[in-house]
Amino acid sequence: MGTHQMRIGGDSYLASFPKRLRWINQCTACGRKGTKPEMPKHIGHSNPNFGAYLLRKYFEPLALNRDGLCEQCEAARNPQAPSISPHS
Ligand SMILES: [Zn+2]
Repeated sequence: MGTHQMRIGGDSYLASFPKRLRWINQCTACGRKGTKPEMPKHIGHSNPNFGAYLLRKYFEPLALNRDGLCEQCEAARNPQAPSISPHS
C-alpha cells in the first residue's frame, strides 16, 4: 500500500531533476530503483539537504552486484551465492 504512489513521485522527481539520476541504481532484471549505497549524506549545490532527503523519501537504498542485479534477483538467480560483496 502506498508504494505505487511513492514510485510515481520518485519518477516525476527524477524527471524534474535528471542530475539526481547519478545517485539512482536500477536493477537490470526487475527494474527496481533505489538510491546508491554510496550516495553521500548531502548532494547537490543549491539545496544540499533537500536533494538527498527527497531521494531517500522516494527510494529505498538499493545495492546492485556487478551484473547490475539487485539482491533479490541475484538470490533468485543464484541461490548458493553469498550476499553482495562490498567492492563493486
Ligand atoms: Zn531486481
